[in-house]
Amino acid sequence: TQPLLEVEDLHVEFRTRDGVAKVLNGVSYHVSAGETLAVLGESGSGKSVTAQTIMGILDMPPAFITNGSIKFRGEDLLTKSADERRAVRGEGIAMIFQDALSALNPVFTVGFQIEEQLKVRRGMSKADARKRAVELLDQVKIPNAKGRVSDYPHQFSGGMRQRAMIAMSLALDPELLIADEPTTALDVTVQAQIMDLLAEIQKERDMGMILITHDLGVVADVADRISVMYAGRIVEHADVYELFRAPGHPYTESLLESLPRLDLKGQELKTIKGLPPSLTNIPSGCPFHPRCPRAFDRCPTEVPAVHNLGMGRTSRCHIAEEVVARG
Ligand code: SF4
Ligand code: MG
Repeated sequence: TQPLLEVEDLHVEFRTRDGVAKVLNGVSYHVSAGETLAVLGESGSGKSVTAQTIMGILDMPPAFITNGSIKFRGEDLLTKSADERRAVRGEGIAMIFQDALSALNPVFTVGFQIEEQLKVRRGMSKADARKRAVELLDQVKIPNAKGRVSDYPHQFSGGMRQRAMIAMSLALDPELLIADEPTTALDVTVQAQIMDLLAEIQKERDMGMILITHDLGVVADVADRISVMYAGRIVEHADVYELFRAPGHPYTESLLESLPRLDLKGQELKTIKGLPPSLTNIPSGCPFHPRCPRAFDRCPTEVPAVHNLGMGRTSRCHIAEEVVARG
C-alpha cells in the first residue's frame, strides 16, 4: 500500500543577510497509516523545519524550497495552491507543538477553540460542536471534561494544556498527526503520560504519526521506525528495534551512548563532543566528521553515499556496514 506521506529529497534554504543557511539538504522519509515514525535530531538539525514545510507554514521568504516533493496520499502538496493546502491542514494532517500555551489562544475558552474548527470546517451547529468538544476532551482524558470545556487555557496545568492541544488537533479527524517535541516542556511523569496518550490515540484511530524529538529515550516505546537527522539530512533510517540493537551510523551510536541505561548504573555517560554544525557553513565531506569518533581520511573530503543495510535500513556513512556489524 502507498504511504500516507512521502517526503522526497526536500531542500530548503534560508536566505538571510548573513548568508544562505542550507537547513534541509535532501530529506526523504515516509509514514503509513497506523505507523509512528520518530524523527530524531539535535536542535538545528532540520526536524522542525521539515514538519513546518509539510504543513505549508514555511513557504515564504526568507525560506525557499529549492527542491523536492511532499506527497500526501500520492499528491504533491508543493504543487498545490494555498487554498488546496489549507484544506489538507487539520483534516489530512494536523500538528501539535511543544508549547501549548502559545498554540492556544489565551482569550478564548478551550472549548471555543475546538468548536470553532468544527463550525467553520464541518458546518456543525453550536450545540453539536460543544458536544463533540466535550467528547474530544474526554478522549484525551481531561477529568470532568464537561466542566472544563468552558475554562481558559491559563486555568489548565501544563500537562492539561498539552492534552487540550491534542484534542484540538484531533477535531477534524486527521489521518496524520505531527507532534513536534510534544513533551519537552513538561516534567518527566507528565511526559510519560502524554506519550502514552499519543500512542493510544494513534492506535485507536489507526493514524500515521510523526514524532519529532531530540530525546531518543522517549521514542523507544512508541515509535515503529526512526529517522535520524543531522545537518539537514537523514543520516540513518531504521526499525526502532534494529536501531537500538545495533546503530548503523556513528552519530546514532553516539546518541545511544549518551542515553542513561539502567543496566549500567554508576557509569559515566558519554556526551557527543563539539557542537552541531552551523548551517551557513556545513562541514565538507561527511558533515559529522568534526565530531565523529570513527572519522578517517576520506571523511572530510568525500560525501558519504546512502548505504543500504537491508530491510529498508539505510545509513549515510562510508563505513556503515562495519558500524552496524559491531553493534
Ligand atoms: Fe564518521 Fe566518516 Fe562515517 Fe561520517 S562518514 S559518520 S565522519 S565514519
Ligand atoms: Mg524544533
